[in-house]
Amino acid sequence: MIKAKNIHKSYGNLEVLKGVEVHIKEGEVISIVGESGAGKSTLLQILGTLDSPSAYKKYGTEITLDGESFVNMNDRQLSKFRNEKIGFVFQFHQLLPEFTALENVLLPTKISGKNVKESMDKAYALFDDLRLTDRLHHKPNELSGGEAQRVAVARALINSPKIIYADEPSGNLDSKNADDLHQLFFDLRDKYNQTFVIVTHNPKLAEITDRKLIMKDGLIIN
Ligand code: ADP
Ligand code: ADP
Repeated sequence: MIKAKNIHKSYGNLEVLKGVEVHIKEGEVISIVGESGAGKSTLLQILGTLDSPSAYKKYGTEITLDGESFVNMNDRQLSKFRNEKIGFVFQFHQLLPEFTALENVLLPTKISGKNVKESMDKAYALFDDLRLTDRLHHKPNELSGGEAQRVAVARALINSPKIIYADEPSGNLDSKNADDLHQLFFDLRDKYNQTFVIVTHNPKLAEITDRKLIMKDGLIIN
């Protein structure tokens, strides 16, 4: 699913990633843990095409998602690639406040010009999977924290992405809602063979993922 090697990233003189190599198989639920500043978010942003590696030619950086290399795509190609192949969940749901839950979830399908009927069917199925069917027409400020985060997960899934990157997805939830969200990741993996890569400080989650990658000073050390 993901094959990446020689990922470097520097901000000025600060070398944040020092030649990261990572392989991720389809259907894996992976956690990335490590101290603050280790480079976890930066790695996720680069794997997710939201940021670019430094000097990829010099370092011979290779990153492929589902066999497709994207390090040398231009911005327009990258936006399309990202919208179709990658889903994101962040610590704060980042739903658009003036839209309903359903409208928020459908937004990525509009951007990629997907069939409306099929998109609606998929959205209803996801609201069902995520136990949100009674929240379709609620706006984000009418949802609980756990519900809003589940809507964000539905939005990440709507285009059937190859992979979902989550950066501290339960960082803003109480432990009950956090456990609940984590269980949903595994349920979605079991149902759709969905691949998840999750940066987390939650030790319970890290212990139950298929693999726990530990980052330290810009490298994966296990
Ligand atoms: P983690 O997610 O493990 O906490 P990050 O990837 O967020 O680590 O950050 C790694 C290091 O890179 C930190 O020292 C951080 O301050 C620095 N950093 C991250 N983004 C930027 C940026 N845009 N400009 C400068 N430094 C940054
Ligand atoms: P996280 O908690 O996910 O590691 P951070 O608080 O480290 O997030 O970073 C939040 C945002 O700020 C990121 O987009 C990161 O790129 C940026 N950032 C982090 N550190 C710096 C920095 N020293 N200078 C500029 N931007 C930074």
